[in-house]
Order: sequence, then structure tokens, then C-alpha cells
Amino acid sequence: MENLLVDKKSGSNICVKVGNISIGGDSKVLISGPCSVESYENMHAIASELKNIGIHIIRGGAFKPRTSPYDFQGLQYEGLEILKAVGKEVQLPVVTEVMDVRDIDITLQYADMLQIGSRNMYNYSLLKELGKLKTTPILLKRGISATLSEWLYAAEYIMSHGNTNVVLCERGIRTFENYTRNTLDLNSVAAVKQKYRLPVIVDPSHGTGLRELVPSMSIAALCAGADGLMIESHINPDNAVSDSRQTVSMDCMRGIVQKMERLKNI
Ligand code: PEP
Ligand code: MN
Repeated sequence: MENLLVDKKSGSNICVKVGNISIGGDSKVLISGPCSVESYENMHAIASELKNIGIHIIRGGAFKPRTSPYDFQGLQYEGLEILKAVGKEVQLPVVTEVMDVRDIDITLQYADMLQIGSRNMYNYSLLKELGKLKTTPILLKRGISATLSEWLYAAEYIMSHGNTNVVLCERGIRTFENYTRNTLDLNSVAAVKQKYRLPVIVDPSHGTGLRELVPSMSIAALCAGADGLMIESHINPDNAVSDSRQTVSMDCMRGIVQKMERLKNI
């Protein structure tokens, strides 16, 4: 992969602004919230706690790609309404996944950043449309079995259509290891930081599938050079409607933030 838009040789490092938060600058960015938006009350309670803890961007899935298509697929348009209202109340930007080209316009009215999920990294018609948006920040998750170069080509494709506001998100890849849901590939993070211009954040929730591993892998990701983290959290993780097993509590989030603070002094 030589002299592509993602390559450091093609220009300076890219810093992506989401509301008034910069991803890829000097400070590490924390994104957190439930896997799925469940209700207004629940989302509001989670976002308020996260704001107090010092989280910078709220996440919540309104359209949910699931391992089984017969599982809960999200509150969809109602979920978008809830997310926007809650973001406004706690005064934090919000990120949510867009799965279908037909939903881009409506989702733009509700979210500050659009997430492309692992299952859609190869959806080139969707990537092309996101490229045409020019200024909207895009969070591009790595495909479940995508190589580093395939993932970078997907980012490149968005950029080649005019939108350079792309943040990569390492979320683990499928390997023969089945103790964890996926294998969190931190090699990719170190490689991106060395050779490419784009910010990269890490999702240790999908990367491990196990909430007890999330704090350690969060710190490991930051040590590998990640520009931030995206972590699934909930006020009542055991009752989270989706991805409960990998969802951490508010106390756990607070602990991760405290450990991050200590890293600054290393
Ligand atoms: C998610 O972020 O909730 C999600 C579905 O992630 P992924 O696309 O990485 O599986
Ligand atoms: Mn999830």
C-alpha cells in the first residue's frame, strides 16, 4: 500500500472533529454507552453517569446488526430520536451505526458521527455515499475477517470520494481462538500509528466479548498508541438487551478513566 491517501507520505496526520472533541490529537478520546438504545429513561441515566465520569462521546445503537438476524434489531428511528435528545441534554456528541444507504440522510439529522459496523466494512456503495458527505465524521470498524490492508482500502475509498474525516476502529478479528469472542489485534493499532495518517481507536468490548477483560485491554490499546477507546457500558450490564456479557458497569468505566489518568504520568 504505497502513496495512498491513508499513507503518511500523502500528507499530515488527520485529526477528526466530532462536535468540539478532536480524535487523533494530543488527548485520548473516550466513547461509551450501551450496545443498543433501549429506552429514553435508560439512555438518559447511562449518558448522565458517563458525562460525570468524563466520557467525551456517547454511543448507542439504533440499527443493530446482530449475529443472528432474528435477534433484536434496535429501536431504529425511535432510537435515533432518543439518542439525539439525550446527547443534547448531557451536552455530548453522539455516534451511532448506519447500516443502509437509505438511512444515511435521516441518521445525519440525529447523530454527530456515523459508525460503519464490521459487517459493512466491505459495503462499497455505503462507503461511497459516506465519502460524498465530505464533512461528516465516520467511524470505520474493521471487518470481522479483514486484513489491515483491506480495512485501509475501505478507509481510502471513503476518503477518495471527498471525506477525509475517517476514524479507524479496531474491534477484533475472527481467529481460531474461541475463549474470547474475537482476537483484539493491537498489532494493527501500532502499525496504523507508524505508517498511516488516520486516527485509530479500539473497541475492547467486541474485541474480547468478556467484560472482565475490558479494563486490561483498554489500557493495552492505549499503550499500543490508540487515540481512544469505544466501550459498551450500561447502568445494569446484566440486563443489557444486547451484548450484555461484554458490557461493563459505570464503576468499571470510572476505574478505566482513573487508570488512563495514571498512564499520562508514565
Ligand atoms: C457495535 O458497535 O455494537 C457493533 C455491532 O460492532 P461490530 O460492528 O464491531 O460488531
Ligand atoms: Mn455491541
